[in-house]
Amino acid sequence: MKFSWKVVALWTLPALVIGFFFWQGAFAGAPADMSKNAANTRMTYGRFLEYLNSDRVNSVDLYEGGRTAIIEARDPDLENRVQRWRVDLPVNAPELISKLKEKAISFDAHPMRNDGAIWGLLGNLIFPVLLITGLFFLFRRSSNLPGGPGQAMNFGKSKARFQMEAKTGVKFDDVAGIEEAKEELQEVVTFLKQPERFTAVGARIPKGVLLVGPPGTGKTLLAKAIAGEAGVPFFSISGSEFVEMFVGVGASRVRDLFKKAKDNAPCIIFIDEIDAVGRQRGAGIGGGNDEREQTLNQLLTEMDGFEGNTGIIIIAATNRPDVLDSALLRPGRFDRQVTVDAPDIKGRLEILQVHARNKKLDPSVSLDAIARRTPGFTGADLANLLNEGAILTARRRKEAITLREIDDAVDRVVAGMEGTPLVDSKSKRLIAYHEIGHALVGTLLKDHDPVQKVTLIPRGQAQGLTWFTPNEEQGLISRSQLKARITGALGGRAAEEVIFGAAEVTTGAGGDLQQLSGMARQMVTRFGMSNLGPLSLESQQGEVFLGRDWTTRSEYSEAIASRIDAQVREIVEQCYDNAKKIIRDHRTVTDRLVDLLIEKETIDGEEFRQIVAEYAEVPEKQQYAPQL
Ligand code: ADP
Ligand code: MG
Ligand code: ZN
Repeated sequence: MKFSWKVVALWTLPALVIGFFFWQGAFAGAPADMSKNAANTRMTYGRFLEYLNSDRVNSVDLYEGGRTAIIEARDPDLENRVQRWRVDLPVNAPELISKLKEKAISFDAHPMRNDGAIWGLLGNLIFPVLLITGLFFLFRRSSNLPGGPGQAMNFGKSKARFQMEAKTGVKFDDVAGIEEAKEELQEVVTFLKQPERFTAVGARIPKGVLLVGPPGTGKTLLAKAIAGEAGVPFFSISGSEFVEMFVGVGASRVRDLFKKAKDNAPCIIFIDEIDAVGRQRGAGIGGGNDEREQTLNQLLTEMDGFEGNTGIIIIAATNRPDVLDSALLRPGRFDRQVTVDAPDIKGRLEILQVHARNKKLDPSVSLDAIARRTPGFTGADLANLLNEGAILTARRRKEAITLREIDDAVDRVVAGMEGTPLVDSKSKRLIAYHEIGHALVGTLLKDHDPVQKVTLIPRGQAQGLTWFTPNEEQGLISRSQLKARITGALGGRAAEEVIFGAAEVTTGAGGDLQQLSGMARQMVTRFGMSNLGPLSLESQQGEVFLGRDWTTRSEYSEAIASRIDAQVREIVEQCYDNAKKIIRDHRTVTDRLVDLLIEKETIDGEEFRQIVAEYAEVPEKQQYAPQL
């Protein structure tokens, strides 16, 4: 458990202090009586016996149940003056008494004074009492500190950790490129500010709005903007904060949250990453999680508990709507779903404008061109891109961010860190052929996206890279486009095989093969693009362990399974033959491009197409790569 070592660490201090006092007490108390006859010099038991035998001992007083003795004896070293000594007696010395009797020495046994026992008892009591008081104060004090161990002791009360904040410093202006979502939420703010407008015509104000979209698209940002604009209290909590180490905390947090909200209505409750609590109940490996389910049940109950027009609106965000419990999504709970998707080109431009506000951009930088070059980027990616550009600019000691930094930043965000170029070698040559293979096949196929650049500078995991500019209309992809992509992906391996022979092909194509196999399989099983007919044979595969049931059944028989395999193989083989044919038919230009690539490390798309055009007819593409 997370908290235990903290508690132990805090224990040690009072325990040490208390222990110190306790032991002091025990020592000071016990020999109190003896000290009256103060015998500071000690004598060994052996010496004592010697003195006894030589009749020097006058008297013996026994203390502590016979374990210590104070003796009076004549000291031969001091002219037989009578001295006192203290002697520690062995536990088992019964012969001593008989010896004393025999020698007729006066001896007396003193009972143990009760002091010692009392002190000991007190000490034993003081120890735990002080310890407990100490701990009590420690916990009281530290429970005021956030995250202190006090929280661990507070589970009964469940100190709610949601924040009530109105000033996030984010305005609707800071959110760009997701207009529909923005409008929807602006309406939510209006609900809270002027509910009459809606209730007058009999409209029921929605209780919950669920923001759904991939990570980094601005869901949390949007919620913060509402908080900044709404002018009403804004309670925010993350789904994971409900789920704690103690059972029942989540449920009681939910109760607290709603109670606070009711006291502060009109207000907004924002639950970020709601999938942490809102997952399908009773699913997943090993059954459900009791704590989470109780929390979810409480949430559902609370959402039912208040009527639509009390002025509380719940906004939740998730990137996994598919794992959410269906009870959450039914009308009356999160009855509005707002999709926050990755922005289109116009949205990207707007987001870039927002994030370029506080950056020094060279006038030659066109945000429009950046937006064009970054299909699929989310708001977070774009913010990151401009930031990387700024960092590179600072590193290169330039005044303002130029196209070069932006270009490098895009590459870096997409493909990872730049590595050092390979030295000239056979393997560099092979990589060059591999990349030129991708680029050439991609350029010569009518339905393939245009080449943006080919480079031999390693980045991330890749030794070389061929960049294509994807078509902006990503929505629908035709069968011939898919086949062109598969063929293009095979271009690298095809070039290796055509030039160096089947025995020399390398592992470099592994990533390509994985991607294209997936595409080919989906063509058959999901998009009905094979001779198996327009059937959906497999549903999209989700991560089963994240909340859905383990049993994703395949919706076909064994016989169909082998036909699927055959179809997938046929598609890939066709494409591979086609790719090899393209390389073989254009061997001269391939060799020339490889030489150029090895010399220059990078060839951009425009130059590439011009060279290819000298040898073959380059099909017209819908869109050429924008040059930054
Ligand atoms: P998520 O959807 O995962 O909650 P965030 O809202 O946390 O994403 O976004 C992370 C960051 O990305 C934001 O702080 C912001 O800087 C940037 N960002 C994301 N989307 C947008 C957007 N639509 N407009 C402006 N900035 C955005
Ligand atoms: Mg978020
Ligand atoms: Zn490749």
